[in-house]
Amino acid sequence: MSLDITSRPGRTGSDELVPSRYALRVGEIDVLVVSDGVLTLPGAMLAHNADPAVRAAWLDDMFLPPDAFDWALNAVLVRSGGRTILIDAGMGAEFPDLPKAGRLALRLEAAGIDLSSVTDVVLTHMHMDHVGGLLVDGVRDRLRPDLRIHLAAAEAKFWASPDFSHVSMPPGFPDALRRTAKRFLNEYHSQMRTFETEYEVAPGVVVRRTGGHTPGHSVVHLASGGDRLTFAGDLVFEVGFEHPEWYNGFEHDPEESARVRVRLLRELAATREPLVATHLSFPSVCRVAVAGDAFRCVPAFWDY
Ligand SMILES: [Zn+2]
Repeated sequence: MSLDITSRPGRTGSDELVPSRYALRVGEIDVLVVSDGVLTLPGAMLAHNADPAVRAAWLDDMFLPPDAFDWALNAVLVRSGGRTILIDAGMGAEFPDLPKAGRLALRLEAAGIDLSSVTDVVLTHMHMDHVGGLLVDGVRDRLRPDLRIHLAAAEAKFWASPDFSHVSMPPGFPDALRRTAKRFLNEYHSQMRTFETEYEVAPGVVVRRTGGHTPGHSVVHLASGGDRLTFAGDLVFEVGFEHPEWYNGFEHDPEESARVRVRLLRELAATREPLVATHLSFPSVCRVAVAGDAFRCVPAFWDY
């Protein structure tokens, strides 16, 4: 059986058979979760400090294959106070072995969103699956010249001389990640606006540095009229609720990542606000509950 119907020839953009966008409102803020596609990655990337048998059992419990599975890749578009803010930009065409990602521009277009309407980009960090979409041929020309790209100063600094000594990635990834980040810094240098700890991009849209996954990794908090939502970027993966202590292969500082993850999940469990994250199954809107020493992800009911 195959559940993969998005890659059928001839079914792209507005003609796709599966939904690729999901809209919600946080007070006065419009939020659109947009799928960039999926990344087919080894299951082992979920935890390189876990007993392989325990990891395999988790995958089996989740009805996921033991070797590799499709990780979601979500970006978010936010409108607040007259600004249109893209949070992360998907994979683009940076890694040819991941052909099921890189659909963000097409899917924004299918949603009626012109790239020239984007006033701000917020980057949770500079891994290629978060910045690659802005490096696709022709994209830069469609963006407005006064576009502002917000990221933590620590992130830009890190990629000048990145440390890969604590990651556990498939072959080819470190080189591709270095190359993409370098290219991004070169091409968009003049549009970057860095912040130290946090920055309010638009009314109720605050990006805050967490570190962990990368030194400048940041999350985005939305708050308006008593409603809240947090976009967690790569601080939490599918397995991170049940096993927040498991080290993801893409984390540059896994110990700090685990600490930051637990802190954020505790915060979200206390506020009961919705969470959206890059690599949680689309549209990824869920709430966090405490479950003993760990957490539970409770998917939100879709609202039609
Ligand atoms: Zn990522």
